Amino acid sequence: MRLDKFLCKSTDFTRVESIDLIEAGKVRVNGIVIITPQTQVHENNSIMLSGQRLVARPSRYIMLHKPINTLCSNVDGDYPSVMNYIHMDRAEDLHITGRLDADTTGLLLLTDDGRWSFNIINPKYHCEKTYRVTLRDPIEEEDIDELVSRFEQGLQLQGEKSLTLAAKLEVIAPHQVLLTLSEGRYHQVKRMFFTVGNRVVGLHRQQVGKLSLDIELGEWRYLTEDEVSGFN
Ligand code: URA
Repeated sequence: MRLDKFLCKSTDFTRVESIDLIEAGKVRVNGIVIITPQTQVHENNSIMLSGQRLVARPSRYIMLHKPINTLCSNVDGDYPSVMNYIHMDRAEDLHITGRLDADTTGLLLLTDDGRWSFNIINPKYHCEKTYRVTLRDPIEEEDIDELVSRFEQGLQLQGEKSLTLAAKLEVIAPHQVLLTLSEGRYHQVKRMFFTVGNRVVGLHRQQVGKLSLDIELGEWRYLTEDEVSGFN
């Protein structure tokens, strides 16, 4: 990670303060004064600030059950931010891994470990996300097979260059389906159903990778070590 980020993770200094300290020559990496905040360092390096060895705080990995009408951004809008549900020190260092729309509920992951999020979001790693979708129009029994195969083959969404990746559709009731995607395009679930002439009226993310939502609406919990390493 970058040296200035390491300082933030191991002290109470802000990013700006950390940069100032580095540029002022107060930080040594493996005995050498480093004045470039962008320098890449490893946690195993000996990193000293004014003669004191620094140790990075462990990264945090959190699951939140996102309520409806909450925003996955920190900017003030019509709705409160999901961050209002997370009460802890340095909550502002957390970022959301795979945002949900304001009207979507369900499993949201937050962390201060950028590399971990990257594995989950990057389509290259095909991390599956399962949504329970409530539809405006019922799916008729005789249309199920064709719809399942259209989702599997990929849909051409408006304004996109490539077809969506193969998606698994399971019809559980005329107005309700489970949809599993291995990518995360903008408003993807809503746009997929729009493309096949239907509308999403309720959307809930119940699973990411092997991780299933197991807490009440508005609650959060830390992930276990096994859950965290399941995404590496
Ligand atoms: N797809 C959507 O359309 N919205 C979400 O919030 C998540 C996936």
